[in-house]
Amino acid sequence: MLKYIDSHAHYYSHDFDEDRDELLPRLYESGVHRIINIGCSVKSSIKCAEMAEKAEYLYNAAGIHPEYANDVEDAYKDIIREICTREKTVALGEIGLDYHYEGYDRDKQIKLFREQLEMAQELQLPVVIHSRDAAADTMDILKEYKPKGVLHCYSGSAEYAKEIIRLGMYIGFTGVLTFKNAKKAVETVKTIPLDRILVETDCPYMAPEPFRGKRSDSGMIVKVLEKIAGLKGISAEEAAEITMENTYRLFEKLR
Ligand SMILES: [Zn+2]
Repeated sequence: MLKYIDSHAHYYSHDFDEDRDELLPRLYESGVHRIINIGCSVKSSIKCAEMAEKAEYLYNAAGIHPEYANDVEDAYKDIIREICTREKTVALGEIGLDYHYEGYDRDKQIKLFREQLEMAQELQLPVVIHSRDAAADTMDILKEYKPKGVLHCYSGSAEYAKEIIRLGMYIGFTGVLTFKNAKKAVETVKTIPLDRILVETDCPYMAPEPFRGKRSDSGMIVKVLEKIAGLKGISAEEAAEITMENTYRLFEKLR
């Protein structure tokens, strides 16, 4: 049985309301050794922390996603900071920039991103970074702060990933890696060192082939591990073991 970690999940999502309590223990028993639930707002960050209190294999991250940059209130700082001091909160995130939709004000996103990178520095916590259609600005800001952390759900070029790794960061791969059109992500896995790779679901999104378009769950990471194993010429067991070690190395509060 493969034993692995899902480094990025959103099990508070309504998509899991029907079967969450039955699904999570089943995943744990089937090899998902640890799951890190990632907050996107004040509300979901609180929820992730509450879930982590209820099961030994659940951990969490707290932060405000750029899609909330327009309306987040300043009080978020105290709440996120408090959650970050809890025992099972392993990172600050997800935070970053999303220029895909016109609706999110870019200046506000940058301000929110910087504030949270500063908070992570102050708390000495790694960060989970979301970056969509904002590669240049994300890189500029990361170069400025040089945080410990992971660039999650990666689908960019190998060159960009190498630059991220030179900053000391990790690259997270979801089911997207298994898609037919994921040529850049495939090229990236081939060329970056194994000790910089994390695996994740981003569930309920990004289900791998052959489940593309369906709700994803941590069990589907096996497909991502098999893909990485094939690209690196190692076994799925080795891919699971190495990515698990990487996750423990990055998130020091994860045990
Ligand atoms: Zn996410």
